[in-house]
Amino acid sequence: MSDHDSGNQTAPLQNPQELYPRPPFPRQPQQAPGSVSAMTPVPDHGETSYQGSGRLKGRRALVTGGDSGIGRAVVIAFAREGADVALNYLPSEEADAREVISLVEAAGRKAVALPGDITDEAFCRRLVEGAVAGLGGLDILVNVAGKQTSQEKIADLSNEQFDETFKTNVYAMFWITKAALPHLPPGATIINTASIQAHHPSPTLLDYASTKAAIVAFTQALSGQVADQGIRVNVVAPGPYWTPLQPSGGQPQDKIESFGKETPLGRPGQPAEIAPLYVFLASNDSSYSTGGTFGSTGGLILP
Ligand code: NAD
Ligand code: MG
Repeated sequence: MSDHDSGNQTAPLQNPQELYPRPPFPRQPQQAPGSVSAMTPVPDHGETSYQGSGRLKGRRALVTGGDSGIGRAVVIAFAREGADVALNYLPSEEADAREVISLVEAAGRKAVALPGDITDEAFCRRLVEGAVAGLGGLDILVNVAGKQTSQEKIADLSNEQFDETFKTNVYAMFWITKAALPHLPPGATIINTASIQAHHPSPTLLDYASTKAAIVAFTQALSGQVADQGIRVNVVAPGPYWTPLQPSGGQPQDKIESFGKETPLGRPGQPAEIAPLYVFLASNDSSYSTGGTFGSTGGLILP
């Protein structure tokens, strides 16, 4: 046995179909942006399971949407991998955010709380400045925050919703990334969050799916722009994940009952199952990957 083996501990095989709850789920409407505590079953963000191994030791990361869902799982994993983390969320999500901040501090890392609305360009600039000041610099930017509101027909889709969805999912990513880039050193990474919806749009998610396709193209174009600065840019494409986004207007309630059933694995993903992908993309382990789309879809096929 070499020094690099993990002794005689074994990692038990786990059947991914049986690892987490499967539909049917109860109807559970809540107001956007939603809260983790109102979800049944309770999502797993890795609170009790994620084990770090120093892969992000000393890194400084800004994560939007860090209070809940995928962003919460990313913040927990990054902190346990040794990173200090600034997290953004809406002021109304303070209760969810406080739970995450406690977990970062329990991991012995610094958490910088930066609540605010990223549909405001001036706030996006202040957010980046606050992260840089609070962390003493910035090495990792993770754009996770997003808005999803299903509408049956284009006639039901208001200009206001169309605008809000693009502001939250596309403009904010542009504003935050533009403000962050002058601070990022060679070796830094940017990770955006698209969706299977960029490639297989649901008829009820016209505006949302369009923003997710824009995020993929933005990531690809930017990766070519900043390669000479030694900065990598990649995008994660989740399939159906069990987060507050979905029952708070992201899906009609009848779709919540069967959420994730359409995937080959027959269930939604839990945020803890996607955080390791963000860790990989943030760390030196992915040093030859840029401009890439990385799926975690329960078996739904990406192009
Ligand atoms: P989530 O509700 O836990 O996270 C979304 C977060 O976006 C919220 O917590 C909120 O803090 C943030 N947000 C929304 N509007 C904001 C605003 N105006 N200002 C600041 N913050 C704002 O849900 P999630 O599913 O973890 O979503 C995270 C990302 O994953 C989103 O980009 C979403 O589109 C993407 N995604 C989710 C799924 C899924 O099935 N859950 C699938 C594909 C992609
Ligand atoms: Mg939230």
